[in-house]
Amino acid sequence: MKYYSTNRQSPPATLEDAVIRSLAGDGGLYMPERIPVLGEEIIRSLKDRSLHETAFIVAESFFGEDVEADALAAIVRDTLSFETPVVHVRDSVYSLELFHGPTLAFKDVGARFMARLLGYFIRRKGIEQTVHVLVATSGDTGSAVAGGFLGVEGIRVFVLYPKGKVSPMQECQFTTQGQNITAIEIDGTFDDCQALVKAAFADRDLNNSMLLTSANSINVARLLPQSFYYFSAYAQLDRTGKAGELTVCVPSGNFGNLAAGLFAARMGLPVRRFIAANNRNDVFFDYLKTGKYEPRPSVSTIANAMDVGNPSNFARILDLFGHDHKAITQSIAGYRCDDGEIARTMRHVFRHCHYLLDPHGACGYRALDDFHLQPHQTGLFLETAHPAKFKETADRILDGNIDVPARLQAFMNGKKQSIPMDNDFGQFRDFLTGENCAQR
Ligand SMILES: *Cc1c(COP(=O)(O)O)cnc(C)c1O
Repeated sequence: MKYYSTNRQSPPATLEDAVIRSLAGDGGLYMPERIPVLGEEIIRSLKDRSLHETAFIVAESFFGEDVEADALAAIVRDTLSFETPVVHVRDSVYSLELFHGPTLAFKDVGARFMARLLGYFIRRKGIEQTVHVLVATSGDTGSAVAGGFLGVEGIRVFVLYPKGKVSPMQECQFTTQGQNITAIEIDGTFDDCQALVKAAFADRDLNNSMLLTSANSINVARLLPQSFYYFSAYAQLDRTGKAGELTVCVPSGNFGNLAAGLFAARMGLPVRRFIAANNRNDVFFDYLKTGKYEPRPSVSTIANAMDVGNPSNFARILDLFGHDHKAITQSIAGYRCDDGEIARTMRHVFRHCHYLLDPHGACGYRALDDFHLQPHQTGLFLETAHPAKFKETADRILDGNIDVPARLQAFMNGKKQSIPMDNDFGQFRDFLTGENCAQR
């Protein structure tokens, strides 16, 4: 299958090229030329299938032409070495827990899949140059990508993160790994980090001298696998007869997760409506209201992985709906939470439902709650990270001391290593060039 650019000024690319390049030459995001549709019979059969079977059906329908079946099955198996359970919270509200992976956030799925697929392409193509993976993180991407790519032959990862704007737990997860992972602490915001990465891809000289790719959700290999768990969630709800009228709420930052859900729906997954939950970084919420997209600098919130002022996957959402604002508002509703509302929601749900939300999931829960679902309808929100990743915030809000899983604690014992850098592209470019020369 070919992948076209949302800007339509570059020629279509193969999957291999789309994954290795990340971003099209015209600055657009790659989109699959066709969205495969799974028939009703397959959708109905999902409830009798395992997570791996379901994920493989989805993976094969996208990547089957471009990746050998055995290799793809192995990639899917390795990616999903953990469950994505749907948990009942109250009445008709369910949480899709996406934090049971190695770094306790949903990004593990996309990051692990991409690392394995990229490794497969490097071997298949016999690429001898080191592949440099650049990734901007507001917290969770860095850890998931560092975890997913750690030790993968032929790949070096540079994680750019905003100084002082990620939680200590998050920071440990990508600054203590060593090996082929290098953390760069930028004196700026997440948007600055993202802009530096984009500038690196746009720099012709740099791209001629070294092989650069991105593991942000602009990369199709990170984005599309995220549709697996929407199917898995549906299957789980269907087993208990609860999948009938489904509203799915996605706490959103760069909108990769929501875009993956929209792909799942286009593939035939019966979702009545999506809700995009925003924190105070609400450009998408405003877009739904006004039809105008006005990116602005991000502001810091307690749901920091959603502090994005110019969500990169907005281009994909526009493209999916042919830039039709009305069609977008019919499929996606919006909601905006401030920090006070997030904190109140965490307290309320903990006390009354005995369910521990993280600040991002709390945004999702609150948005869903605002929709006043009927008893026969089902609401599903994505719980995108384990609350212990935001322990300081959660402890303060819940006036408690929440448990930290052992695998998260283990990161805290490592030695932090990062390279401080100004928000300056010249400095970043010189650094990358130096690293590239040093390897030769
Ligand atoms: C990345 C992240 C989000 C936002 O996901 P997008 O795909 O960027 O919209 C939400 N919650 C958590 C915990 C995250 O790490």
